[in-house]
Formats: sequence, C-alpha cells, structure tokens
Amino acid sequence: MNKLFMIAFTTLLLSACGAEEGLTQAEEDTQVSEEQANEESTSDESTEEESTTAEDDSESEDDASNEDDSTEQGDVSDEDDSSGNDDTTEEDDAADNDSSNEDDATGEDDAAEEDDATGEDEGDVSGDDDATAEDDAAEEEQVVDAQICTTGSQLGDIPANYVAALEKYTTTNSEYTVYVCTQDTNNDGEADYMVVESTNQPEHESYYFEDDNHHHEDFDFDTNKYKYDAVYDSQRTGAAGNNMIEAQTVIMKMPITPSAAATKTNTPYGTIGLAINGVSFFNENAAPGDDITEELFTFDQCSGHPQGSGLYHYHVDPVCLIRDLGGEVTTATHTEGGKTYSWIEDTGTNAGLLVGFLVDGFPVYGPVGNSETDCNAEAVSSDTIDGYNGHSHCTAEFSEAIYHYHVKTAEVGATGESVFWVTNTQYYGEPGVLSR
Ligand SMILES: [Zn+2]
Ligand SMILES: [Zn+2]
Repeated sequence: MNKLFMIAFTTLLLSACGAEEGLTQAEEDTQVSEEQANEESTSDESTEEESTTAEDDSESEDDASNEDDSTEQGDVSDEDDSSGNDDTTEEDDAADNDSSNEDDATGEDDAAEEDDATGEDEGDVSGDDDATAEDDAAEEEQVVDAQICTTGSQLGDIPANYVAALEKYTTTNSEYTVYVCTQDTNNDGEADYMVVESTNQPEHESYYFEDDNHHHEDFDFDTNKYKYDAVYDSQRTGAAGNNMIEAQTVIMKMPITPSAAATKTNTPYGTIGLAINGVSFFNENAAPGDDITEELFTFDQCSGHPQGSGLYHYHVDPVCLIRDLGGEVTTATHTEGGKTYSWIEDTGTNAGLLVGFLVDGFPVYGPVGNSETDCNAEAVSSDTIDGYNGHSHCTAEFSEAIYHYHVKTAEVGATGESVFWVTNTQYYGEPGVLSR
C-alpha cells in the first residue's frame, strides 16, 4: 500500500467510523480490567518500542501477550452472544450494552491506555497523550500505521527456507496492508522473530463489510443450514449481531527458528495465526457455556465472521481465499421451498495450498481431502496427521520436510465425521507473540 493511499484511508476512517471504533475499543477494555494495573506500570512502552531495538522490548511483548489473551477471551464471548438465539443471549446483549454505555464515560482514557500497553501507536501518541481528542485520532491511525515493519516488507533477514512461503503474504492481498519483516528484540544484531503485520481485512466478498465497501455482498444466512447440514439441528441462522469488519492492526511474531514444543501450549481465544491474506485464524473453542457449532451459522459466504470489535476471522477452511489462491472449489446448491441456496465448497483437493501460518511459525495448508502429494508429487497418507492437525513432509514452498498443519473442512474426504477447525486444542510448536 502506498503512502498516499494510507493517508487517504486514514482520513476516510476518521470521518466514517471514528466514534464507533472508539466505542468498540473501549468495550474491549472493560473486559480486560485485570490489565489496568499492568498498563499503568508499562505506559512508557510505546516509546521504547518506537526505538525498535530497545532492550526492554521482550518485556513489552510479554505484557502485550497477556493482554491479548484476556482481550480475546472477552471478544469471543461477545461474538458468541451475538450468534445465539436464546434468552441468555438477550440478557448478555443487554449486559454488553450496559458496559458500552459505561465505557462512554471512561472510554477515551481506556483507549489511550490500551494504546500504551500494546505499543500500537508508538511515538505519535506518546508525544501528545494529554489531549483526548488527539488520542482518538491516533487510535484511528493505528489501523494503517506499521508498528514493527515500519519500512514495509523486508525479507532480507527471513531464514532462507521461509522466504518463498512468507513472500506470499506480500503478494496475496493487493488491497489491504500485509507486511513481512523481522525483529531483533534483544539488539544483538540477529533477528529473533519473523513478523507478519496486517490490518486484518479480507480481499474477498463478505456480508460483514459495510454497504459502502465494494466487497460488501448480501448473503442469505439460511444457506448455512444446508452448507453445514451435518451439524444443523435447530440453530438460528443469521448475522453475528451488528458486528461488521473493522480494520485493525494485528501483529504476529513467529520464532525465527520454529521448533516443536516439548510441552504443548493451548491455543488461546482470539487470533492464533494469520491466513496468507492477513486475516486472523481462530481455534475451535467457544467461551465457556457457548456452543462453537452455533457460530457456524453466522459465517458469511466465505466462511468467516467478525467478533465484537470487528476482527474478521476464520475458524474453518477459508473457501474464498482458497478460490482466490487458485485452489479448486465448487458451487453447491440446495433447493428448499422453491428457493435455491448456493455456496462455495472446497473440493478436497487443496491439501498442497499454503493458506497461512500459526504463531508458532508452522505453516497451515489446505484441508487433507481426497489426496495429498508432497513436493516430489509423491502421495502422502492422511494417516500421518497427528493430534495437532499436522505432519511433516516437503511442500511446494519448503523443499526440506517441514511440520505443517492442515485445516479441516466439513464433508470433504472420507473422514466419516464432521470436522471443521483450523487447529486442534494445542499448538505443535512454541508460540511466538500475537498482539493487536
Ligand atoms: Zn468466531
Ligand atoms: Zn501435509
């Protein structure tokens, strides 16, 4: 994205959705009250992070990571609220409204604090923190300002075996920012993380883009009854509340040398990785008390949806991305009551398609369906898939065998059961740092 466009985009955001975004950010903040203390003690982080070589960076990262965990947890419950249709949902919605009203009073301060804690606004904000209005403006800028990859994509220090794969982040989404670079957090002259920085906006159609976005496309959510008929019971179909896609910076820092974890870590609620178009991957978990399969019925025509702060994400096979990457998809239809519903379905032949990475630095490929071949066109048995949805062999992007995940999808392949998720409960490798 060039600078002119960034400026224009920033201006557009300022005029179009300033107030709304401020509210959503504030709403998140009440859900992360436990970080308030953290934030105060780390309020100088933005300055430190600005000079990207500061020695304290690793501490900042830990803080940011903590914050994200709880933020994400809160977000998911928002999202689940909106996807439900029972009495408790209405109560929850009311509670949400209350908390956002509450936020009105304190929201702006909270937003400013969050900026500090995540270092997202960098020097821009720390210069004039006292003016609330300016904080708001700065918050909008965070949407397009690069935080770590400040000079755009730089693949120079990316390990050689990762270049071909990570380069795809820089070429897939031609409309919205996705940068790849490295970060040297301990200032020893060696890169410590491979960084992917995105504004988390898909470049494909979605019901969840605002009407004035050219990617907005209506969708009849009843389609999901037939698309997910294997798990359809009596779930309500419909939009995920009023959530719409909002641009927001997501930074994924993967270990420079990804490795299998001796002790596995659970994937958190919220972003666990980034698809190759810069959109978040979420796991298969719902907040306690909610049923994740309810969420399927709020997915748009591309099998994604936004949560409470407008963060668009895929829990499952990203079919439109797969289509846009040149993968094989088919249009399925179902006629009911004189009406024909149609949707895009994965053909089960896209196991060799790189669709993203998780934060542990291991790539995610398309669903293992009818067959998979490696970089030498040798057949790979799906029996080798382990409990983390992955296995090792060479691929089109990695000439040496590498551990990689495969997304699962419904009704593809002879699995005999309904499976959907990008990953199982745990990461295979040591996770790096995700922040937003
Ligand atoms: Zn979701
Ligand atoms: Zn494979």
